[in-house]
Amino acid sequence: MNNDDEELAAYQASISAQNDPSQGQEQKGGAFERMKGDDPNWRVKTGEGQATLADIKKRRRDELEEAQEEGVSRKFKIVNFTSEDSAVVGEKTIISHYCSICGEHCVAADAKIMKLPRRRTDKSFALEEAMHFHKKYANFGERINLKRPNGVEQQYRFYCRQCRQPLGYRPRPDSETCKFSYFYHDALVEEQSHAIALR
Ligand SMILES: [Zn+2]
Repeated sequence: MNNDDEELAAYQASISAQNDPSQGQEQKGGAFERMKGDDPNWRVKTGEGQATLADIKKRRRDELEEAQEEGVSRKFKIVNFTSEDSAVVGEKTIISHYCSICGEHCVAADAKIMKLPRRRTDKSFALEEAMHFHKKYANFGERINLKRPNGVEQQYRFYCRQCRQPLGYRPRPDSETCKFSYFYHDALVEEQSHAIALR
């Protein structure tokens, strides 16, 4: 069996499962049914309950396009769970981050923010929101426009609730999804006692 055959067999098995009456009615009319409707050649190419590899690939493509339109990245979806993944998927340690000036608890995250990749433009730490759980305890401000070498950048900054130090920014308002949250490289400390006011 080559990979395509395996892919096809797995897919057909999943279709049979969907057609199983015990699985309920809702699943039957899912994306696969819609896909048949979209492709006028479907009946010609395949027998009842069968799908060609082309159908499968088309369906994958449709799903991908849909995901992109929704602004949802499925790039990091883990399909095959292995022990290698367990460090990422298993129980996560939540790390507290404090304002570097007053020591206020500002961000909880499943990663050390000061270990994240940095943005070249301003050396801010970039947290990929789809990759990491995180919660900001901060106040968001109005939109700010910044002049950059290649144009204007929009920032929605967030500030320490206690001393109002700017902690970082997002390219979109707090209510909207976006790829990254940025944290200024000197705005946070991992030990509350390292804050300037508490030293
Ligand atoms: Zn503060």
